[in-house]
Amino acid sequence: MVASTAHSHNVTEVATDPSIDTDTDTGTAADSGPATEFGTLGLRPELLRALSDLGYEEPTPIQMAAIPALLDGADVVGQAATGTGKTAAFSLPVLHRLADLDRNGKPSALVLVPTRELAAQVCEAMYRYGRHLGIRVVPVYGGQPMGRQLRSLETGVDVVVATPGRALDHLSRGSLDLSKLRMVVLDEADEMLDMGFAEDIDAILDQTPTDRQTMLFSATMPPRISGMVRRYLREPRRIELTRAESMSGDAAAVTQVAYVVPRGHKPAALGRVLDIEAPEATVVFCRTREEVDRLTEIMNGRGYRAEALHGGMDQSQRNRVVGRLRAGTADLVVATDVAARGLDIDQLTHVVNYDVPSAPEIYVHRIGRVGRAGREGSAITLAEPREHRMIKTIERVTGQTISVRKLPTVADLRARRLELTRVALREALVEAGDLDRYRVVVEPLAEEFDIVEIALAAVKLAHGADGTDGDAEIPDVELRPRDDGRSRRGPKDRGPRDTRRGKRPSGGMTRLFVSLGRRAGVRPQDLVGAIAGESQLRGKDVGAIEITDKFSLVDVPESAADDVITALRDSSIKGRKVVVRRERFASR
Ligand code: AMP
Repeated sequence: MVASTAHSHNVTEVATDPSIDTDTDTGTAADSGPATEFGTLGLRPELLRALSDLGYEEPTPIQMAAIPALLDGADVVGQAATGTGKTAAFSLPVLHRLADLDRNGKPSALVLVPTRELAAQVCEAMYRYGRHLGIRVVPVYGGQPMGRQLRSLETGVDVVVATPGRALDHLSRGSLDLSKLRMVVLDEADEMLDMGFAEDIDAILDQTPTDRQTMLFSATMPPRISGMVRRYLREPRRIELTRAESMSGDAAAVTQVAYVVPRGHKPAALGRVLDIEAPEATVVFCRTREEVDRLTEIMNGRGYRAEALHGGMDQSQRNRVVGRLRAGTADLVVATDVAARGLDIDQLTHVVNYDVPSAPEIYVHRIGRVGRAGREGSAITLAEPREHRMIKTIERVTGQTISVRKLPTVADLRARRLELTRVALREALVEAGDLDRYRVVVEPLAEEFDIVEIALAAVKLAHGADGTDGDAEIPDVELRPRDDGRSRRGPKDRGPRDTRRGKRPSGGMTRLFVSLGRRAGVRPQDLVGAIAGESQLRGKDVGAIEITDKFSLVDVPESAADDVITALRDSSIKGRKVVVRRERFASR
């Protein structure tokens, strides 16, 4: 059992506000129905509505600690890596406070981030969280035409999300006015320092009011970051991951594996891993209700008997789902953490983290559900390449190793299926009870064919289909070790501003995510039409298109990707607004 950690906190606040309760594992939330604990943090109803639209059920630990402090107006230093939910941890309070301000078109908040990818992601997240508030968020980063940025800055903006280089360019041209700024976020501060942005940040913050609220997030806290904190923050509250109690002996019986998978390939990867593992009863943890519903549908489509379990369901619905897993009439339960509280199923052999959990304790708590009473169990984590830090943090906190493995290949899968067929046949031979009645099939054939041939044909039939899984190849990717990033982008090879940074090889294609799919009636020609109609691209420049029920993936030339994203965001497809963004890592 790992119950010893179930009530521990993974976030501490130095200079703690005693009213903040960071205990997310009380085991009672499941009984309180779908109401989310976000409601207790003091956020505006418009934000709570956006969170509920997104299917977020409860705050992550960093959000629990940071949001109340930031709403109080305090400066905050948060030690948090990607995957912890830190973007929402700062975005929600920023949006909340902005809504109260008298906004006059000059930016009230500035978010500085190291890369243009991150700028786009943060912008997108803020847009989604703030959609019911009508707050204008503008990304400002290199590689985007200056003209468009100038126009959006001129028309009035509330939040600017920028890379330091481009922000400084705009400051020196006079197109960015930070004199009315109320809030500054320094996101991934350690990365920004590694990329040589220290002086740019100094120069930018020099032009902001000194009574601003400042928040700094960083995965690591080297001395240079402490220096930054001293310079830019006032009496900051510190929120950090602490070393939790390590896992107890039983957990060692749990095999812990992570597979690195690009986001778009996760459903296929999950199917493949489960086919190899052939588990008896599995819980797959997702972050949001939407993801639970989507994945349940996909897994059912792949032949699994999968059931959804989330906070939007009432207690009797949940009990029925758990009952089916216990009875073996369901193979998979796809669940959010909230809904899975108190889930206690002895038969459970596998726990899958469809995403890397947002805190080590959540990981520990989830995988504590297998390997009980000395039984063997498996914990499988599907990690995106950028989530390497969280895996490392979990290993450090639990004192256990998570072995990062290559996904099974299609060939592995075929071999495994044959193996399972052999095992099943062997069982049938050993039990041998009622085989006699099949003699009428075999004996007449034996006069005509060799007995081994007959057996092979029978196995082929028993094995089913042709043994392929119909999966496309899943690209082989690795966790991105931090040191690589450092050596590639040391302060010395900064190059001219950030306009060059992050560009993909010329001539290459980039995959875009478009938030409408088959259900919305989208066909390939609609996507091509919208792209050709709204951007500079012609229909023939558009590459591969994949349309799923809920979303679509479209390949476009990298050089035109930003243009297409901006153009489509301002337009509609099939009469509906769309969210368009880069499909992370799909093109690397
Ligand atoms: P971040 O650490 O900010 O990169 O966030 C990681 C992922 O977690 C993003 O995909 C968010 O949409 C998601 N996320 C953030 N907060 C929550 C939450 N409270 N519940 C569910 N998902 C979340």
